[in-house]
Formats: sequence, C-alpha cells, structure tokens
Amino acid sequence: MRNKAIAATLPSGRTAYRQLADYTSDMAALATQYPTKVKQFTLKNNSLENRAIRGIEVTRDVNVSNGKPVFLMLGLHHAREWPSGELTLEFAYDLLKNDGVDPRITNILDKARVVFVPVVNPDGFNLSRTLGYELKRKNCRITNGQLPTAGQCAQSANRSRGTDLNRNYSGFWGGPGASSSLTSETYRGASAFSEPESRNVQAFVSAHQVTTLITNHTYSNLVLREPGYAGAGPTPDESIYKALGDQMAAQNGYDSQFSYELYDTTGTTEDWSYYATGGLGFTFEHGANSFHPAFSNVVNYYFGTGSTAGKGNRSAFLLAAESTINPARHSIVTGSGPAGAVLRLKKSFTTKTWNGTQLPDVLDSTMVVPAGGTYTWHTNPSTRPTVVQQGGTESWTLTCERPSGQVLETRQVTVARGASVTANLTTCAAGF
Ligand SMILES: [Zn+2]
Repeated sequence: MRNKAIAATLPSGRTAYRQLADYTSDMAALATQYPTKVKQFTLKNNSLENRAIRGIEVTRDVNVSNGKPVFLMLGLHHAREWPSGELTLEFAYDLLKNDGVDPRITNILDKARVVFVPVVNPDGFNLSRTLGYELKRKNCRITNGQLPTAGQCAQSANRSRGTDLNRNYSGFWGGPGASSSLTSETYRGASAFSEPESRNVQAFVSAHQVTTLITNHTYSNLVLREPGYAGAGPTPDESIYKALGDQMAAQNGYDSQFSYELYDTTGTTEDWSYYATGGLGFTFEHGANSFHPAFSNVVNYYFGTGSTAGKGNRSAFLLAAESTINPARHSIVTGSGPAGAVLRLKKSFTTKTWNGTQLPDVLDSTMVVPAGGTYTWHTNPSTRPTVVQQGGTESWTLTCERPSGQVLETRQVTVARGASVTANLTTCAAGF
C-alpha cells in the first residue's frame, strides 16, 4: 500500500537498526555532547563473552547526587527483539534533543533521573544482529557454570542453548512459565541470578531508588504489570499500577493487562524488582507479530500509527517519566543534614523462589546532602508490597556518613507510598 504521509524521523535520525557497536558509540557521543546531562556508566558484570555492558543516566546536573526519583528503561534482554533497544535509546535522544524545547521534557529533566540500558544481553544481541543466528533469544550460557569458549555461542550446534534472562531473576524463580531445560527458549538458568546479565539489573536496581521501570520486549502490543503468574493475586498497588498501565496503553494503543494474562511467567525482571523494591515495573511488548520487523516499524512504534498516530510509545514513555516524578506514586525522605554528608538508605531481606528458598537481597543507595543543608530524597516505600499486603511495615535504615564512610547517625525511617517523612539529622550535623 502506498503511504503518502511523510515519514516521521526518529530523534537520533537513524534509519536502520543499530549494531551493538552503534549503541556503544551513540551513548558515548551523547555523553560528550551533553556533559552536564548525560553520564555513562558500566554495569557491574561483563557478559559471559566478556563484553562490558553500558548505560547512560540522563538528568539536569547529572553528576550531582540529587535524590531525584529514577526511571529505568531496559532493552534487549532478548537478543532478537531489536526494536526494544532502539526504542529505549531513542527516548534518551528525544529527552536530550527536546530539553528546553518541550516543557514536558524540560520538567522531566529537572525532576527525574532517567536511566537507559538499551542492551542488557550484548552477546545474544550481537549474534542475532550480525545474523549469526538471527532468532537468538537467550544469552550465551552454553554449559551451566561455565563461560563459553570463543566462538562457542555462535556454533549452530549450540543454537538452542542459553539462559532466558527474563526467567532468571529470583522472584518466584523456578515456577510456571519457565523451563528447567538448558535447550528450552525459556530456560530459567541453573539457579536464580546465575547469569551476569540479570545480576547487572539486580545490582543497579538495588543501588538506586528506581521508582519506575520499563523493560522493553517484542512482540504482542501489550503493557504488562505484575503479577506474572495468576496465583500471586493482585498487588497492593493495583489501583495506581493499573492506572499508569492503562494511561500508557491509551498512548501506544496496546492492551494493558496483568502479565499472567499473556501467559504465566516466573523469574522475570519485575517478578523480582517490583516485589523487592515496590518500584512500579512494566514489560512493554512492542508490535503485533514480529521480533524485528522492517525498521520503518520502529518509527511507527515510537510515534504511533493508525489510531495512535502522533502518540505511540514516545507519549507512553513521557507518561512513565511524569509518573516517576509524581510524589503520589513514590515516597519522600526529607530534612536537614550537613552539606556534603552521604546519606544512605539500606534494607536487607530475602526474596523467595518458587520452591520457597529464601535468597538474600540488600537494597543500598546513597545521595549527598546539597549545599543548602536540606535534602529531599525521592525513594521507594520502605515496606515491600507483600508485607503491605499482610498489614506489616518495614523501615529503611538511614545513615548519615562522612564521605569516608564513617557513620555519624543512624535512623529507622518508615514511609509509605505517597507519603513524606522528615528526618532532621542533627546528631550528624553536630559531628560532621
Ligand atoms: Zn522478550
């Protein structure tokens, strides 16, 4: 069919799918072009094939530890789902290009820290994108407990091997919708967080107050929220969780639903992240029927097509960013403290796998008290969703420290979603 409309141009101007090296060079170029708004970082672990995994943080005064709420965008857990990386990185370009131009975006850069990891699974993506094995989904775990040897992942005999990174997170790990067979497309891995690539996301989320998370996938035209398996029952955050999912789906034209309505899954990103942190996490399944259709479809996914023309995922992502800065959707810890002191929020608990094994989790994030001597830290609630459901409460342990790490004051802070708690760190101020 002829299309007389002038094709919209993606924020980066790209007209073809990126190769792995393009992601790396594009993020580096953005950091160079916008030094006060873009900070590159490397995730904790290299991939199984020893690739560094990079991301960028985007906000105004990015190098200042300023307590802004964090919106994390992820792409390419699954290697063949090329649009998932494109849409992730294009939104970064959009924010940077339109800061100071579009008031919505200016506001987002003022108030949120938006973090992009477009390629969670670089080994698998590279194999797929270079057409070594175009339909590669999983990572390069060829043998449990062993690193792949050079070239092993690309061998055709090993095509079916690998761990499904989106079944390898610890939440409900080992349950329905995941396989115990290394050659299954939904292989859960030898153990929860057996894979460096999923541990990277765990480490990042554990070290930041990620109040909103979107992990991008293809395909099915869905906006999915927890729970991932029907038996878990609705979350205590269902009303706001559904409201945000529905609002985003109204922009991109997808269906907004529980993750289990697609099919039961366990060990997915949000099966861990939502229940561990309370941050509202979504899986977007982009597109109707293809893992990586012709690139022109990516433009449509981004800007919308048909009934969502002019909206699309761009508008959905903007809503997610605006929800991130909405204090009704997260928690605030605020007060006075000595300028330059390091504040730390820490919480230790266990996450239960499907068979009941309790695995240790530690959330540990920091910010620095600004020059004015007062701080406002946008955080996740102190009480995890399952504990909220049982009528219980949990606290953050808040410490005020010298930059050397010496702790001058320790407080227990309990704060619900939508609430703000004041902690004036007078002992710390006196001793700093
Ligand atoms: Zn996927």
